[in-house]
Amino acid sequence: MAVRIRLGNYEQTTTDVLQRTAIGYFPRMTEEEAMEAGRGVWRLDMRIISRERFVLIVGEGLVRAVGEITAVTEHLTDRGLKKALETDLLGPGHPLYDTYINQPDPLANESRNSIRYGDLPEEAAFRTRDCACGCGETTTHPFVPGHELRAIMARVREHFGGSALDFITWLDTELPPAAPAA
Ligand SMILES: [Zn+2]
Repeated sequence: MAVRIRLGNYEQTTTDVLQRTAIGYFPRMTEEEAMEAGRGVWRLDMRIISRERFVLIVGEGLVRAVGEITAVTEHLTDRGLKKALETDLLGPGHPLYDTYINQPDPLANESRNSIRYGDLPEEAAFRTRDCACGCGETTTHPFVPGHELRAIMARVREHFGGSALDFITWLDTELPPAAPAA
C-alpha cells in the first residue's frame, strides 16, 4: 500500500518540531519543498505506516511529490506524540513517479483527513513477500539474494546427510534428463 498525504493551507510557524518555518501548500513549490511540507507531523498508526513503502504528497488536488519511505520518526508535540516520514524522493523512470507526478490525487476522497492509505497498481512490482527459504526476511523476489543456495543446502542436510553428491545422484536418478536448451 501507499500513503497519500494532503497538504493543508500555507502557514508560517515558529514552533515546528521539524524546524520548518512554514508548512502547507504554496504555488510552484518544488518536489523537495512539497515533501518537506508533507512528511510530518501526523498522527499515524505505527503498525500501519511501517508497512507502507511509498508516499504521495498532494497539494490542491495534484500530486506534488512522490517518495519512498526510509524511516518513520516520532516527535513529541504540544498535541501529543506525532510522526514524520524520512523519504527518498522518486524521479523520472520510477513507475510511481511517472504515473502520478502532477496528476490528480489517485486516492482522492471526501474525507477531511489528510492521510489516506490505498493500493496503487504500480506498486505490484515492488510488493514484498517472505523469503522462500523461511528466514523471515522480506524481499521483492522469491528469495533474498543468496538464500536460494541456503534453501537448497538445508534440504541437502535434511535428506542427504549434508552430501551434495548424494543429492545430485538422487536427482539424476529420479528425473529424466532434461531436453537440451534450445
Ligand atoms: Zn531467506
